[in-house]
Amino acid sequence: MRITALSGGVGGARFLRGVLRALERSAEPVDLTIIGNTGDDITLFGLRVCPDLDTVLYTLGGGIHEEQGWGRADETFSVQGELAAYGATPQWFGMGDKDFATHIVRSQWLGQGQSLSQVTARLADRWGLPARGVTLLPMTDTPVETHVVRDDGSGPQAVHFQQWWVKEHAAVPAERFVVAGMDRAAPAPGVLDAIRQADVILLPPSNPVVSIGIVLSVPGVRDALRGTSAPVVGVSPLISGRPVRGYADACLSAIGVESTSRAVAGLYADFLSGWLVDEAEDLSAYADLPGVRVLPRPVLMSDLDATADIARAAIDLADAAPVAQP
Ligand code: GDP
Ligand code: CA
Repeated sequence: MRITALSGGVGGARFLRGVLRALERSAEPVDLTIIGNTGDDITLFGLRVCPDLDTVLYTLGGGIHEEQGWGRADETFSVQGELAAYGATPQWFGMGDKDFATHIVRSQWLGQGQSLSQVTARLADRWGLPARGVTLLPMTDTPVETHVVRDDGSGPQAVHFQQWWVKEHAAVPAERFVVAGMDRAAPAPGVLDAIRQADVILLPPSNPVVSIGIVLSVPGVRDALRGTSAPVVGVSPLISGRPVRGYADACLSAIGVESTSRAVAGLYADFLSGWLVDEAEDLSAYADLPGVRVLPRPVLMSDLDATADIARAAIDLADAAPVAQP
């Protein structure tokens, strides 16, 4: 079974680790292609940082800081301390020494003229992904960056998404998101084929606006999802209307969408065929989405086995879901 998944960072990576565990439990061969969000990418200290791709690499490769959900386990922070001693900025973006090595080698290879896809494939080799049947593709090779327009009292100003999220904790309400570079972006090699040739397409419970929403805005991606005959099954990132972590509610309100699983499903309604939601969800809200099979069940990824159960339910729902009409 060829599975293709779109992914952000922590929520996506944890879910995808559950997919691998679910397939392993049933001794099924793994053929998983992940299309990762690169809208979070940022250049810091001259280095290209791809937070969501790295979270997927570290999580699936066994190098992740488990509690934090991002960054490397057993980190040291010598480089960051030295940078701070020089007064180098920004200091609000935490990067450990091991993590720095990833950004250094990525920047070196990009500087030699390799594409982000090629670089990502080399990084994925180190983490053993291809050997396990996993392909990680950046959504695009074109440098793109999500910016947030927000007004802290001094008038509307666009700042990098990371500044709004990491430094400001999304405290100042976002007015809108703008993805710099997206107008000239093309899907990375293999992205559209991975959607067209998949047997099942999974949407992890990644942020619907700044993770999944950004991948969907790469020219051609949404059309490919609408056009595929494969079922598209998603997992809601909201439990009782609240994100499990992060500020998805603040992102949804910026685009004028309610913080409910039903409203998030609405963002995917043109291609969604199955939707996993929390058990407490009111299913009557989905009466006007007849093409979507909604499955209430525990969706908290409390540990790897619980996550594998969620992944298994999503794959099984794909088998059962009627194919959405284009
Ligand atoms: P990020 O790029 O690191 O912010 O990660 P993603 O965009 O991939 O995922 C973030 C989303 O995952 C958040 O909106 C969370 O609500 C969601 N999330 C995190 N943990 C869980 C969980 O255990 N269950 C569900 N359903 N969603 C979760
Ligand atoms: Ca992210």
